Amino acid sequence: MSAKVLVVEDEANLRDAIAYNLELEGYQVLTASDGVEGLAKARNQMPDLIVLDIMLPLISGLDVCRSIRKESDVSVIMLTAKGEEVDKVVGLEIGADDYVTKPFSMRELMARVRALHRRSSQIQYASTAEEEILISGELKVNVSSHTVTLSGMQIPCRPREFELLAHLMRSKGRAFTRRQLLNTLWENDYVGDERTVDVHIRWLREKIEEDSSKPKKIITIRGYGYRLDE
Ligand code: CA
Repeated sequence: MSAKVLVVEDEANLRDAIAYNLELEGYQVLTASDGVEGLAKARNQMPDLIVLDIMLPLISGLDVCRSIRKESDVSVIMLTAKGEEVDKVVGLEIGADDYVTKPFSMRELMARVRALHRRSSQIQYASTAEEEILISGELKVNVSSHTVTLSGMQIPCRPREFELLAHLMRSKGRAFTRRQLLNTLWENDYVGDERTVDVHIRWLREKIEEDSSKPKKIITIRGYGYRLDE
């Protein structure tokens, strides 16, 4: 079955062009022209991926993303116009997985969609791979079943948080620079800001640290990066 992509964009020409190109790529496409319709379709139609414009009528893309994130870990690519004073990090903080700045080429957007979809489906189907379990104290990451537990309690993690945690746990005690983590986890499809790593580390700490303001597991190495300790 082909993946379902929801396109939320108020400019009809752009919306149609994106939908057309996604269909050519073999995706099943749903569209919405404002934030209210977008949020309703995100909830009712359960898309696998959402292409979400920031500047939308009724509810902004940022608020749509924020609401979706409370309910689901569907992949979200945000569209932002050049000159819009929206910091990429704001979008990443509220849970977007990637960003494309307007004007963009359809080729570029399709590449991002493919990369993100590949990533989330790889994780979904990873259970067929050989069992890999990473343990650090009471924290347990099962790479095969894509689950994280802390003292036996399951911790919900989004795809990139999961990969970041698994990466740090595979090399316990080893320090990584932000750039190294960015290059490893965001591949080449993301010309990212190193603060992206900080945002994801903060999310992880909120989930796995007893007190995220005094982290004992993921340690910050001043002027360098991060390390996971026992
Ligand atoms: Ca718009």
